Amino acid sequence: MFLNKEIEMQPRYRALLGLLASFVLITPAAAQRPLKVLISVDMEGITGVVSSEQLAPSGFEYDRAREWMTGDALAAVQAAKEAGATEIVVADSHGNGQNLLINRFPADVTIIRSWPRPLMMVQGVDSTTAAVIFIGYHASTSNVEGVRAHTMSSASYAEVALNGMPVPESVFNAAIAGHFGVPVIMISGDNAAVGELQKAIGDVEGAIVKRAISFHSAATMTPEAGQALIRQKVKAAMGRLGSFKPYILKGPVRVDLTFKNYRPAEMMAYLPNVQRTSSHAIRFVAKDMVEASRFLEFVGTYEAGLTP
Ligand SMILES: [Zn+2]
Repeated sequence: MFLNKEIEMQPRYRALLGLLASFVLITPAAAQRPLKVLISVDMEGITGVVSSEQLAPSGFEYDRAREWMTGDALAAVQAAKEAGATEIVVADSHGNGQNLLINRFPADVTIIRSWPRPLMMVQGVDSTTAAVIFIGYHASTSNVEGVRAHTMSSASYAEVALNGMPVPESVFNAAIAGHFGVPVIMISGDNAAVGELQKAIGDVEGAIVKRAISFHSAATMTPEAGQALIRQKVKAAMGRLGSFKPYILKGPVRVDLTFKNYRPAEMMAYLPNVQRTSSHAIRFVAKDMVEASRFLEFVGTYEAGLTP
C-alpha cells in the first residue's frame, strides 16, 4: 500500500528528480581533475609466462601469452580508470614492442608501440603524469633468482649500474619517471621482480602473480586470478596516490654498462664521452636520467647497417 502511494506520487516529482539526478551525474564529472597514468607493460613477468615459448612470435604459445599480457594490462587499465584516472597511456615494452592486442583496449587509451624510444619502457611519462605502473616486470640480471632475470638485453648485458648500484629495469625506469617528479605506485611480476623494486625504492604496491622456481620455471596463478590480484593492487595504490614518493637520482648520473662480449666495450670507447672501465665494461656520465635513457637506447639499437 505504502509502495503504491509512492508510485502514484512519482509523476509530480519527476521534473524535480530529473533535475537532481542531472546534478548528481554532472557535478562529479565536472569537478574531476585530470589524472594521467602511464602503464609500462613487459612480458616476462606476466601471469603464466615462464619461457621463450611465450616470449617471441616463434614460440608455440606466444599467441596465447599475448592474450595473458593483454589481460594483465587491461586489469590495470580498468582498475586505474575506476579509481579516477582520466588519461591512460600504455607502453608495450617487450621484444618488438608489438605484443599487446590493441583492439581489446578502451577507445580512450593511447598505446605506445615499437622501438626505438628516447625514454624506452616508460615512453609517455612527463611532468603532467600522476603515477607510473609496471605490469609483467622481471628481475635483473644481477639477481640470483627470477624468471628470465635480465636487464635490458639478456644477450648483451651482464650488468647495468646507476651511480655504482646494479639496477633492474624497474629501478632504471623508476629513475626516469623520478626525473619528471612522478612516482611508481605498483608493480606486477614474480616474487623476485617485485621484491627487487621494493627493496631499491621503498613503498610500492606489489602483485606477485607467480613464484620463481628457476630461470625457466615458476609456480603461477591462473590468468583470471593474476588479473584479480592486479586489479586489487592497482586500486590500493590509486587510493593512496599522495603517499608515494618519486625515485629521484640527481644528475650527473654515472651509467656503468658491462657487456657479455668484448667488442662492444672496445668500440663504444671510441666515443670521446665514453670511458672504458674494464675489458667488458664502459662508463657514460649523463647529465640526467633522460640523457642516460637516450644513451642506453642508442647502445642497444645502433648498428652501421641500420635500414631504412
Ligand atoms: Zn621483456
